[in-house]
Amino acid sequence: MSRAKNVPDLFGSMVFNETVMQERLPKDVYRKLKKTMREGTAIDPDVAAVVATAMKDWALSKGATHYTHWFQPMTGVTAEKHDSFISPTDNGGVMMEFSGKELIKGEPDASSFPSGGLRATFEARGYTAWDPTSYAFVKDGSLYIPTAFCSYNGQILDKKTPLLRSMEAISKQACRVLKLFGKDVRNVMATVGPEQEYFLIDRDDYAKRKDLIFTGRTLFGARPPKGQEMEDHYFGSIRPRVAAFMQELDEELWKLGIFSKTKHNEVAPCQHEMAPVFTSVNIASDHNQLTMEVMKRVAQKHHFICLLHEKPFDGINGSGKHNNWSLSTDAGENLLEPGKTPSENAQFLLFLTAVIKAVDEYQDLLRISVASAGNDHRLGANEAPPAIVSMFIGDELQAILNAIESGEDYTERVKTKMDLGVSVLPTIPKDTTDRNRTSPFAFTGNKFEFRMLGSAINIACPNIMINTAVAEELRQFADELEGADDFKEALVTLIRREIKSHKRIIFNGNGYDDAWVVEAEQRGLHNLKSTAEALPHYTDEHNVELFARHNVYTREEMESREEALLEEYYKTLRIEALTMSDMVREEIVPACVNYEGDLSRVVRNKKEAGITDGMETELLGRISVLTKELYHKCDDLERVVAAAPRAESKMLANYYHDVVLPAMEAVRIPADKLEMLVGKKYWPFPTYSDILFYV
Ligand code: ADP
Ligand code: MG
Repeated sequence: MSRAKNVPDLFGSMVFNETVMQERLPKDVYRKLKKTMREGTAIDPDVAAVVATAMKDWALSKGATHYTHWFQPMTGVTAEKHDSFISPTDNGGVMMEFSGKELIKGEPDASSFPSGGLRATFEARGYTAWDPTSYAFVKDGSLYIPTAFCSYNGQILDKKTPLLRSMEAISKQACRVLKLFGKDVRNVMATVGPEQEYFLIDRDDYAKRKDLIFTGRTLFGARPPKGQEMEDHYFGSIRPRVAAFMQELDEELWKLGIFSKTKHNEVAPCQHEMAPVFTSVNIASDHNQLTMEVMKRVAQKHHFICLLHEKPFDGINGSGKHNNWSLSTDAGENLLEPGKTPSENAQFLLFLTAVIKAVDEYQDLLRISVASAGNDHRLGANEAPPAIVSMFIGDELQAILNAIESGEDYTERVKTKMDLGVSVLPTIPKDTTDRNRTSPFAFTGNKFEFRMLGSAINIACPNIMINTAVAEELRQFADELEGADDFKEALVTLIRREIKSHKRIIFNGNGYDDAWVVEAEQRGLHNLKSTAEALPHYTDEHNVELFARHNVYTREEMESREEALLEEYYKTLRIEALTMSDMVREEIVPACVNYEGDLSRVVRNKKEAGITDGMETELLGRISVLTKELYHKCDDLERVVAAAPRAESKMLANYYHDVVLPAMEAVRIPADKLEMLVGKKYWPFPTYSDILFYV
């Protein structure tokens, strides 16, 4: 393993970043490229040709032989197809070439990517287009060019394009609002810092479990005598083998220009977390995808497997991803930072109100943005936020909002009075705002932390929803305030009115409490418990309108996305069900039969020896009953899978949720009981105790 190096030298050493561009590009080309990056305009072919050559020469110096357009299809993982730079020469040799055209546009034969019906297979052509706002980099001997992926007639087939569009939407509307406060801002950037949780387990254990291999999670496994109840893993000292992994992970991430900052052990045994420093959401999203890939690869080198599944082990906390989100102007002003002057505070309160209104009006979208078969095991299971979307803002802000709503002065911590009829905001101590770990969407001092994301998700989706929803509220506010005769008065009226209408989304209490479920229902909040229940709301009329208005998605694109997500959901469950029956038939039942055979011999021998009161007969009886139950439950499971209707995805998703999932649970119960009864050397794969406590 590599030893710690000079980090500033290491950092970004594999990235075609600002420094490299300045070094390698002629001044005028550099200037034109920067303009393109800043303004999102089309790149001039001559400029592209020069950039391509410089990129190739730089990549060759880093040992690259290939290049790839790197994109994020709807599957949520990244896709790449590598072409070498070689081009034949007349004398039978090769030279290394890379044209401007190859840089700007690629045409992967992409017929096999899900398109949710947008693109017929016979018309396979999709194309990738360079996103110059995210740097190219060299990894594993290839030059990676971040790209967007579209169908031939321009429909979006990926996650990057809508994310970029949502960033544009929120920037545009936020600039309008800032203008009302006398600020001439050209660009407002959505910033994100995603905290990534993961499990590390030994590669040998992994290789012996088909469920982990095929589904990423364990489908069987009795609870070990010790779980996470001692809470001795959280922030615990990091074991040497894991520390070595983390060190190499950091180095690899730094080389790729990823701001890996914090690492620690998490709540569950074998669970860890990495948090980067925040950056623009487009880059944060690319970086998070890369981080997940690099985690998996570095883990293998250390004889680990990195599990990114949201719930690898039943009864043990699953993994999430906290999406810290804020807005920043091009001058670096954080728009969610409570200000020090009355007018800064008014501006802060307006942005805060926009977020509150957005989360309330688009609860369903936020829920949908994190919906997956894996995440269904976490949300609402008392380890992650509930499936009900609500916001936590803390006592200090709550008191201020209450004062605004009732029209009273907020006098608790009065320093100066502001024109708004509200006192200057107190400095909000960070630790008081971070206390509520059960809230799905928490204000943490100068940003919001959206905590419903599963660990495996592509963060583009939730951020597309947040950006677009907040853009819409800012648009409405700007429309109203731009036309006002008295800005200040209109501002107070607006904030008061909106707080009144949307305060139901604010909940500062315990989200794990059953009483909250009842209260949330009384408040009229959504409780979309499963992915099957949540996804069909994607194309509800108000959501279609939202995305169409801000040019993020067309109706057709949304329908195709809903379709692709539903398909992914039921296919995941089908693979899990099939893996279960495979493991029962080929591994668990034979193991039980072996053990029964040995037990029967003991029973027979003892009988012959005249001993009749042993416990073996009883044990044999118990195992026999449970094995039979397992065998029949497995029959049931296979039957319901085979009986899945030939229906549209929405119905199939419901069928898998309502019928197949319970049948899977019924198979697991006798299997887990058998694990506790059957001798260890007979059991066909490593148990939770084997996996979770020895790494
Ligand atoms: P914690 O949540 O553990 O208290 P921090 O609040 O320092 O830790 O940060 C958690 C994550 O939030 C980090 O990834 C950090 O970079 C990110 N973050 C901090 N400020 C912002 C911001 N303005 N916009 C987006 N993310 C941010
Ligand atoms: Mg945090």
